[in-house]
Amino acid sequence: MLENFIPYSTQSINQDDEMAVIESLHSSHLTQGKYLIEFENTIAKFLQTQHAVCFNSATSALYVAFRIIKELVLEKETSLKKYGHLDALQKILYLKDRDNFHFAHNHKTISILTTPISFVATTNMMLENDITPIFGDICMDGNLKLEGLESLLRDDTVAICSVDYAGNSVDMEAFREFATKHNLLWISDSSHAFGGSFNGKKAGTLADIGIFSFHAVKSITTCEGGALVSENAFFAHIASLICSHGIVKKTLYNHDCITLGFNFRLNEIGARLGLSQLQRIESFLTKREEIARFYDKYFKDNPYFFTPKNHSSVISTRHLYPLLLDSSLTCKKEAIANELVQNHVGVQVHYKPIYNFSLYQPFNYPILRNAEDFYHAELSIPCHQNMTIGIAKKVADTILSVFEKYAKK
Ligand SMILES: *Cc1c(COP(=O)(O)O)cnc(C)c1O
Repeated sequence: MLENFIPYSTQSINQDDEMAVIESLHSSHLTQGKYLIEFENTIAKFLQTQHAVCFNSATSALYVAFRIIKELVLEKETSLKKYGHLDALQKILYLKDRDNFHFAHNHKTISILTTPISFVATTNMMLENDITPIFGDICMDGNLKLEGLESLLRDDTVAICSVDYAGNSVDMEAFREFATKHNLLWISDSSHAFGGSFNGKKAGTLADIGIFSFHAVKSITTCEGGALVSENAFFAHIASLICSHGIVKKTLYNHDCITLGFNFRLNEIGARLGLSQLQRIESFLTKREEIARFYDKYFKDNPYFFTPKNHSSVISTRHLYPLLLDSSLTCKKEAIANELVQNHVGVQVHYKPIYNFSLYQPFNYPILRNAEDFYHAELSIPCHQNMTIGIAKKVADTILSVFEKYAKK
């Protein structure tokens, strides 16, 4: 048995991070200061994207992304007046010379194509904006399946929202093509994939809006935090307005409030910690990859579960290491998971298909075959930067022995 409990994921904080946090505490500003600006600029540079706006969580950033879509579609006229960027808005409304862009239509409702295999915040933030999620099925790597998605498009579908499951980027080129072909905006919930890439391009950055989380278990942390990134200055501008009360400053005290905003800001302590963590991200991702490759080899040809293979164009952040149980064992998964936890191996299931939650019952969503099978088969096991190969071996041995026991039962 392992001496200490090994969580499926956790943060890594070293002395540099500690010093960084203390430094920020002694700064003249604890909020709205230089570290936030520096963190946003550093994120944009790291991701090679034009704009990055930080938030107190990815959930807040998702809310804002969908709110932007809602305002542009349902409140087109008022948005034009409110934000006053007529040229920029026209460009978005008739995106990149696409003919008959959906936003040019007069919609009364909005729907967005998305995946049921995500953290519930992805679609909760659509509901908060009166947007209906339409769930497509998934591939066996846990990512939204583009094939067949066309048939789910409705007249009021204006966007697609993908999730980079486990840190494994969706095929960004295929999603870009799909979005362009169907005149959709593309939101990438890349909360698992900060630092990952597809064909050399950072995950989330081919989308119209990319969302990242800096929650403690994600690839880098600000304790709580998130970011919205975009190539589009207008999106970034509205995002920072909604993030901070919708206020624009004119002179020293003559401010104006031009849209309904919130206080979704990331504070200076979080921003400073994020800057320090960003210095360490390569070592985090390398370590996670090392653990994952060890598992890949160690579990090869075992009779109990499969380990999903990543696309060769993808560099995953390995946010999760998912096992997919053989169908003969899925009915024993709960007992197996409990026994692993008793043996100090932290496991979790990612995710119950969102349409199964009580909150989503009134929509009467159809059951999706792959999503259901995935949920029943999936078990995430420890994979993070605080592990050593020695610990990974102990975890792997514990897993194999527990599975062996239940396979015989
Ligand atoms: C973690 C996560 C979120 C929410 O992130 P917070 O920063 O905790 O708000 C949203 N979507 C996905 C896919 C996530 O994994």
